[in-house]
Amino acid sequence: MTAKLIDGNQLSQELRAEFRVRVDRLRSIGVTPGLAVVIVGDDPASKVYVRNKARACEAIGMHSEVHALAASTTEAELIAFISRLNTNPAIHGILVQLPLPRQIDSRAVIEAIAAAKDVDGFAYGNIGELVVGESLFPPCTPFGAMKMLEFAGVAVEGKHAVVIGRSNIVGKPMALLLLHAGATVTVCHSRTRDLAGIVRQGDIVVAAVGKPRMVTADMVKPGAVVIDVGINRLPDGKLVGDVDFDTVKEIASWITPVPGGVGPMTITMLLSNTLKAAETAAGIRATRADTRIG
Ligand code: NAD
Repeated sequence: MTAKLIDGNQLSQELRAEFRVRVDRLRSIGVTPGLAVVIVGDDPASKVYVRNKARACEAIGMHSEVHALAASTTEAELIAFISRLNTNPAIHGILVQLPLPRQIDSRAVIEAIAAAKDVDGFAYGNIGELVVGESLFPPCTPFGAMKMLEFAGVAVEGKHAVVIGRSNIVGKPMALLLLHAGATVTVCHSRTRDLAGIVRQGDIVVAAVGKPRMVTADMVKPGAVVIDVGINRLPDGKLVGDVDFDTVKEIASWITPVPGGVGPMTITMLLSNTLKAAETAAGIRATRADTRIG
């Protein structure tokens, strides 16, 4: 292996230890940062994600609440529920686990979350702030990927970053964060022609597609930094990313593993955003003007 590993578990541990100090500081002035996670229905994968998020909060001394609502919940009921969380002073961050059942319009629900508590960063207000580079709550997965680049000491400025995937939760915000950090960014997607040729130009490659091992060594420029956001379960139960780790690690300079890469960082950045929300509410934190990203 020639590439060095960017270890998401190790970075998460380091960051969470720092967060614990900030939580203790808040608790010493009577504020316990609180995250409410709302899940509707019985999707087993969503239940696991929600449980992991709640555990991560508790492990650093934050308060967490999981609200499991019936699959038959109506949009109006869910929005009324969120309105109560919006005015609950013990709650600083609200996360609605997606996907929601078919009868509920996810956009209407996301927009019902108070801007100051939108720690997932998916509401229009936050997206707008992200576009101008002043986001208080960057979406957790791409924010985590940026932290991994920083941790590895990768200078982003002036580099050509190729993002594969244009989803609203990963690809697009990832491209914006890289742009704010000074990269020249190309976004590839399902209609891109000559994907391999474009990816091969990338000094930094971020794969966020959802196709097991689709980025192969022949698509990667020697020495590139490769961030694998994909999480795919193979028929034999094994978890793999969108990058063919075993071959690409021989070509890249840095690479993130799956599991143990971007996955844990996503939860870490959720903790970061919730902590930021609590600090802002307690008046000990910066406003948007000094949270400019890059
Ligand atoms: P999505 O399905 O919403 O988007 C996939 C994107 O890939 C689309 O923009 C599509 O245009 C593009 N795409 C599809 N086929 C392609 C192809 N052949 N060539 C180029 N582009 C192609 O998925 P998403 O929500 O953005 O998630 C992407 C992956 O990241 C999934 O594996 C998901 O499980 C994973 N994910 C991981 C985390 C984490 O915490 N690590 C968080 C969110 C998503």
